[in-house]
Amino acid sequence: MDELGERIARLVRQVIEERLAVGGELASASTPGGRRRPLVAANWKMNGSRAMAEGYPSGLRPAPGVELVLCPPLVLLPPLAAALRAAPGLPEVGLGAQNLHFEPKGAFTGEHSPGMLREAGCRYVILGHSERRAMFGDDDALVARKVRAALAAGLRPILCVGERLEERESGATFRVLRAQLTAALAGLGPPAPAPGELVVAYEPVWAIGTGRTASAAQAEEALAFLRERLAELFSWAWARGARLLYGGSATPENAAALGAQPDVDGFLVGGASLEPAKLSAMALKLSEVRAR
Ligand code: PEP
Repeated sequence: MDELGERIARLVRQVIEERLAVGGELASASTPGGRRRPLVAANWKMNGSRAMAEGYPSGLRPAPGVELVLCPPLVLLPPLAAALRAAPGLPEVGLGAQNLHFEPKGAFTGEHSPGMLREAGCRYVILGHSERRAMFGDDDALVARKVRAALAAGLRPILCVGERLEERESGATFRVLRAQLTAALAGLGPPAPAPGELVVAYEPVWAIGTGRTASAAQAEEALAFLRERLAELFSWAWARGARLLYGGSATPENAAALGAQPDVDGFLVGGASLEPAKLSAMALKLSEVRAR
């Protein structure tokens, strides 16, 4: 689909979704009171097995009001989805992918199109993760194409942005965040995607998989900055409705302090998400601090 086609498809979908919003999928991004619904997304990366996928749901515990999304390796989606369907007493858990190709089909060995991900049950897709930026050539322009393709197919991007350690130490954090965000969202709108359709994750590269978490103040400062940039790009009403996540060595131990920050709407979780009990504990902490 060309760019004009994508825009028309998005406009049509937005109109339909706005009409179906109350009680429908779009409403899941906010609570009935209009507050942003917390979101905890698990990035299994290239970890797991069929046995893990089959057993994972039995280790999950409900966390009132928190949306849970699992992004396993693609081949593990079917057994995970089946196990989730069979698990008693669990609220709906969303599924996501860790990457996509922006084309709908073709000679792209090893890749998966947005439509294929939708068909496999994905509602979300992680894009712009620092591991893909560093190891697989996902530069800003490619991330932007993927974001547009995801939205056009009805997938919700979880767009990752974040600075490297040397960038933080040289005072370049906000320049990097602004550049990555602006580039990834270039060419979006009008019309803008609905705020519930796009999630932004602040993932400082120095905190990913290192055990070195950003402080609550650092996470809040970065996410408040990103929300302001989103307001510049779209509008304040839009930015207030969009969910922003923190990611980088988030664990049950630091979830309450991070989750209490006004601009932290949830977490993108790598290592800790491999254990459903830890992921659930984080979601529960978030649920508790939000209920206060
Ligand atoms: C990630 O890879 O997105 C991530 C946040 O990893 P970890 O939680 O392991 O730091």
